[in-house]
Amino acid sequence: MSFMATDLRLPTERIVRPDKDRFLNEENPFEAMMSRFDRAAELLDLEPGLYKVLRHAEKEIIVSCPVMMDSGEVEVFTGYRVLYNTSRGPAKGGIRFDMAVTLDEVKALAAWMTWKCAVVNLPFGGAKGGVICDPFKLSVGELERLTRRYTAGIVATLGPDSDVPAPDVNTNERVMAWVMDTYSMRMGHTVTAVVTGKPVEMGGSLGRREATGRGCMIVTKEALKHLGLPVQGTTVAVQGFGNVGSVAAQLLSAEGCRIIAISDKSGGYHNPKGIDIAAALAHVKKAKHLEGFAGATPITNEDLLTMEVDVLVPAALENVITSKNAGKIRARVICEGANGPTTAGADNILDEKGVFVIPDILANAGGVTVSYFEWVQDRGGYFWAEDVVNQRLNEIMCRSFADVLQLSRQHKVNMRTAAYMLSISRVATVHRLRGIYA
Ligand code: NAD
Repeated sequence: MSFMATDLRLPTERIVRPDKDRFLNEENPFEAMMSRFDRAAELLDLEPGLYKVLRHAEKEIIVSCPVMMDSGEVEVFTGYRVLYNTSRGPAKGGIRFDMAVTLDEVKALAAWMTWKCAVVNLPFGGAKGGVICDPFKLSVGELERLTRRYTAGIVATLGPDSDVPAPDVNTNERVMAWVMDTYSMRMGHTVTAVVTGKPVEMGGSLGRREATGRGCMIVTKEALKHLGLPVQGTTVAVQGFGNVGSVAAQLLSAEGCRIIAISDKSGGYHNPKGIDIAAALAHVKKAKHLEGFAGATPITNEDLLTMEVDVLVPAALENVITSKNAGKIRARVICEGANGPTTAGADNILDEKGVFVIPDILANAGGVTVSYFEWVQDRGGYFWAEDVVNQRLNEIMCRSFADVLQLSRQHKVNMRTAAYMLSISRVATVHRLRGIYA
């Protein structure tokens, strides 16, 4: 196997897992990530020292961010930045603004970024950041001050060679512009490559905004091809109508799929004849949410998940497919647009039902892939046409899907375990080559 060609493993006994009994809570995202990691590590027969190294985040930063509110009062927000592993290159990972942010969640997302970058073979490590706040309740000025103060709090780790953030839930190009500006002020010169997902006018890449949804579309088509199913007329339900979900819906629809259900925080919307995605996008642009969208009948998010469709794209938040509802899932293919939408407890149930799951670390890697392109373009100072970006994204997503599929066949494991095996073996190989500084 080419990716495990450099096997420098020490002859040691099998893995010990002294803290395995701690991992009992299905909905703790870090535990969910770790249970998948453990399974792949066991199959790879990872040596104990390396196993322990890869089970720990390199760095966890907690910052208090005082912000002058418009009322004149000072409010203090808590922010996190976790660098999980940087053996393969600078840490890469988004920043989310959400009331549900916890350190465990940020740690899990940072680890996922490590595996995700390795699955698509990018020269990056993994990181994630988050601030506990409700951005919908903040004014633009408050949001900018919070972003700048959070950036100042983590500035020592940021940098094109060390840690490169990107947008995530409830953050966008504008927030990235503030992060870039705050960092550049500290450095005394403009440093575009410190963040990705920036506006195109200031060093962003064409195609970045659509990249995650485009990646979902590409791997969904690859999965349908593998299963011998046609793309034309394939029925699709998409949970989440933000950056990832709305673009995935739009592009799958453009490929000939019939999007019969979409949803957001306000609820689900169903139309068996197919939803006009352009009309739904226009509605959200005006109303901020899908609520009141006339082109479909309201349903619940739970109804959407368990509806009879060919493809289900969970593209909102984590832990929406659990051991409680996995038995009711009727989709043939699940394309995980979100990070961690399926709990470890649900995996076996989906396997038994024969659902083909394209795991998050592969399915939504399109975003970080074009973030990598953006970082390369910023550092080179030479920008690519959009069709070049899309074509290179297509190549990487198709090749990565094929790598994971080949490994899943070879080891008779599902796509998730195969994706973890591939990425962990790539990270492990670099650790062995570099040596552990212990
Ligand atoms: P976003 O903020 O643009 O959109 C999130 C969407 O989910 C919104 O439509 C929101 O209303 C909906 N939502 C929130 N809570 C919900 C609930 N309880 N039920 C149903 N819908 C709900 O975020 P995004 O950037 O699209 O990210 C979505 C997911 O994809 C996250 O898990 C994120 O980590 C992951 N992801 C994003 C990117 C990216 O490039 N943006 C890349 C990889 C992974």
